[in-house]
Amino acid sequence: MIVWSGGCDSTLLLEQYGKVGAAWGRAKSISFSHPQIGHSQVQKVARQKILAELRKRDYEIYHLEVELTSEGDTVFAEPGDGLIQPIIWLAMAMPYLAKDETLYMGYVQSDDIWHRRENLFGAFDHMAKLMGKEGKLELPLEWYTKTTVYQQLQRKGLLDLCWTCESPGSGILNPVPCGHCASCERREETMVLLEHLESKPSSNQARKALSELDKTGEAK
Ligand SMILES: [Zn+2]
Repeated sequence: MIVWSGGCDSTLLLEQYGKVGAAWGRAKSISFSHPQIGHSQVQKVARQKILAELRKRDYEIYHLEVELTSEGDTVFAEPGDGLIQPIIWLAMAMPYLAKDETLYMGYVQSDDIWHRRENLFGAFDHMAKLMGKEGKLELPLEWYTKTTVYQQLQRKGLLDLCWTCESPGSGILNPVPCGHCASCERREETMVLLEHLESKPSSNQARKALSELDKTGEAK
């Protein structure tokens, strides 16, 4: 089962596992709309578009949407102190995981999760045991750079459908990326450099700029 946000990394994962004829059969994905996860509703719209496109291509995906509608009281989770999303994803996904099913998450090389790798795997193992489950957690994109993710999605004709903007304006039903937040700029810069490399493969400058971008990661 793949934890899928509708952003680039997990969409690439879904594409890889949902491909027709994949040895593991039909892929299963789960997504959460959650008030504590930024831009949840905008990403949901992106997911609907991506899913429609993949199904048009005969990808076999069994998809679950789970929605938490109320934030409740004050949330004591400050950026910088720790990571909020993994704990929400793990705790919410676990009940939907079959007894011996593997949970896949789309973390890539530049994500903050690697500073807390042991916590993530430890949390998964303890939660699984608590629920009497025997599956494991896998992070297949561990060595992928953001550039590789963008490049592969572009080649597969899916990049434009993925949502990465951190400052979506109004218009939840048909959202438009702002074009100037850190994520928008990063994505735009990467695509310009990739295009440049395609027309001029010997450009060491573009290659260097891409690897610099991959080192810095992406604002959360
Ligand atoms: Zn943006």
